[in-house]
Amino acid sequence: MDVLLIYQRILQFLKNIICRDGFTLILQSYNELRHMFVLRSLLLSFLFAQFLPAQEVKSARNINDIPVFIYHRVGDSRFPSTNVSKEVFENHLKYLNNNDFNVVTLSDALAYVQQGRSAPEKTVVLTIDDGYRSFYENGAPLLEKYGFPVTVFINTRQVGASGFMGWKELNELIDRGIEIHNHSHSHDYFVNYDLKTLKTEFRNDLEKSHRIFKEKLGYVPEIFSYPFGEFNPEMKEILKEFGYLAAVGQHSGVISENSDKFNLPRFPMTGIYASLEKFQNRVNMKSLPAELLNKLGNPIVDTENPPELRIKLLKPDLINTESLQCFVAGSSDCRIEYDQEKELIIMKANSKLENRRTLYTITGQSTSVSWQWYWWSFLWVIPDIKE
Ligand SMILES: [Zn+2]
Repeated sequence: MDVLLIYQRILQFLKNIICRDGFTLILQSYNELRHMFVLRSLLLSFLFAQFLPAQEVKSARNINDIPVFIYHRVGDSRFPSTNVSKEVFENHLKYLNNNDFNVVTLSDALAYVQQGRSAPEKTVVLTIDDGYRSFYENGAPLLEKYGFPVTVFINTRQVGASGFMGWKELNELIDRGIEIHNHSHSHDYFVNYDLKTLKTEFRNDLEKSHRIFKEKLGYVPEIFSYPFGEFNPEMKEILKEFGYLAAVGQHSGVISENSDKFNLPRFPMTGIYASLEKFQNRVNMKSLPAELLNKLGNPIVDTENPPELRIKLLKPDLINTESLQCFVAGSSDCRIEYDQEKELIIMKANSKLENRRTLYTITGQSTSVSWQWYWWSFLWVIPDIKE
């Protein structure tokens, strides 16, 4: 880590000289270099993974369980549904610090997951969506105090608007070791379009945001955060076409090698969900190893409402299947069945879904450690319902 810090300082020094002399061409290469720095962990982990013993990949446990958290505003009580107070945010960081958690960027976490390499025990990721100014003013200084990295997702259209960070602040955050990726240009409700329009609109939006990223930050983003956590299979395919490594949603959960890389979960941290008790519980949660069997993993609810969720349990030995529980938007008004022979979990709400977005959650207790629980969730979307 020290070597990386020195490297960063040298880059900062070079940037200062370059800025004074106004050689924009050299500044551009600085940005490219900085982006290479962001990519270092992916490359290193790839090389490292080549020397891994094969049996580690096959062991009957998850290789990684990395809880990811999503925050929006910090210390801005005018917007309670997207805010955590400075005290709550610091309590989370203090807990991670006092209990020796290893906080990494989402890129670093993905590198572990994608290369089948085991992350250190107690690894977690903190992410921030939307790029609000309150994060810069209240959140970033606390992260710096504890020396924790974070991954920020921005809407390029909003940068510099009232209440949002500007490019100067974002560049400063990158120099302080914070990683920034894409949350679209427009933060649109893409799934509201008919399929043909969606494809055009989403491609145009990505192209626009990439042009701006390249111009203002010097690189093209590689991780996408779906606006409102909403997507459909077409959007996933377009992201892959554009070279994205992964995409995150807004459904709660822990990432592991079993996760869908283009619908990675994050525990939302706001209101009652951000209490220290809930945070402690989530930070020690594991990922229920499962594969979604619903067609194309499509979260759009069509004719079947309530929709039925079918997942295959990948490591049934880990989970006490008698303990399986289901929740619909936090309520237990649902049914869950386990087909032992097919290792299949089927879950369905008891009544029709009435909101635009509804979360199905499945939890199960460990067979070996009674306090340990495993978590899996899926966010359904009904585009015809307006917010
Ligand atoms: Zn957002």
